Amino acid sequence: MTPALIEVRNVRKAFGGVVANRDVSLDVERGRITGLIGPNGSGKTTLFSSIVGQHPIDSGSIRFEGREISRLDVQRIARLGLLRTFQQTRIFSKMDCVQNLLVSLPHRETAWSHMFRRYPPEVIEKAERLLEFVGLYAKRRLVAGSLSFGQQKLLEFAMALMNEPKVLLLDEPTAGINPTLVNALIERLKRSNREFGITLFVIEHNMRVIMNLASRIYCMSRGELLASGSPAEIRDDRRVIDAYLGAQ
Ligand code: ADP
Ligand code: MG
Repeated sequence: MTPALIEVRNVRKAFGGVVANRDVSLDVERGRITGLIGPNGSGKTTLFSSIVGQHPIDSGSIRFEGREISRLDVQRIARLGLLRTFQQTRIFSKMDCVQNLLVSLPHRETAWSHMFRRYPPEVIEKAERLLEFVGLYAKRRLVAGSLSFGQQKLLEFAMALMNEPKVLLLDEPTAGINPTLVNALIERLKRSNREFGITLFVIEHNMRVIMNLASRIYCMSRGELLASGSPAEIRDDRRVIDAYLGAQ
C-alpha cells in the first residue's frame, strides 16, 4: 500500500499546561478531500499549525510524501508544496486582487520585482485565470478591502492556488460567509481537487458542508482523536454526537 500523503503519528503539543494535541495520529490521502471536525478548542487549528511548521511539536512524527517534516520551518514546508489558509483572512486590503495574487508568490520567483508592472505577463495571466476560477475576474482591479468577507475568502483561496500547492490545509473556509457564497466556495474547492489534483485537508464547523465535501472525516475532542470514517459513519457516530452536544 502506498503511504498517505501526510502521515501524522502520535503528535503531542502543549501550550504551558494546556495539552492542545494528545497522541494524535491520522492520514491525509493523496488526491482526496479529508475533513477535520470537533468542538471549539479541541485542537484542530493547533494540528494544522504543527503540520505546516508554525511551531515545533513536543513529540511524535509528521511525514509528508514519506519524509519527516516536523523539524522543518514554515518556508521549507511551503516549498515542498504544503500550504494553509487561516481562520482569519490574510489579504492585503489596499492592493487590488491581481496584486494580492502576485505578492503571494514565493520570493524566489519574484524577488527581482515588487512593482506590479514588472511581473512577467504570463504570471499576470495566471493570476487573472485563477481570479476567473474563483469568480472574481470582474473585480480583479478592485482593492481587496472593498470585497465582501466571502469574496475575500475566495481571494485568499486563489492566493494559495497561485503557489500550486500539492496539499492545501483550509481552516474553516466557510466561517462567516454569506450562505449564497458558501455553495460557490464548496464548488471551487471540489473543482481544485478534481481539476488541479490538489489534496485538501479541511477544518469545518458546518456539518452540511463537510459531509458534502470530504470522503473521510476525522473528529477531535479535547485534544484527542475521537473518531474517523466516511461522512455517513461520522454522522451516525454516538461519540461524535455526544462531543458536539456536550460542547453546547
Ligand atoms: P480548535 O481549532 O479546535 O478550536 P485550537 O487548536 O485553536 O482548537 O486550541 C486548542 C487548545 O489550545 C485551546 O485550549 C486553546 O486555548 C489552546 N491554544 C491554542 N493555541 C494556543 C497558543 N498559541 N497559546 C496558548 N494556548 C493555545
Ligand atoms: Mg480553530
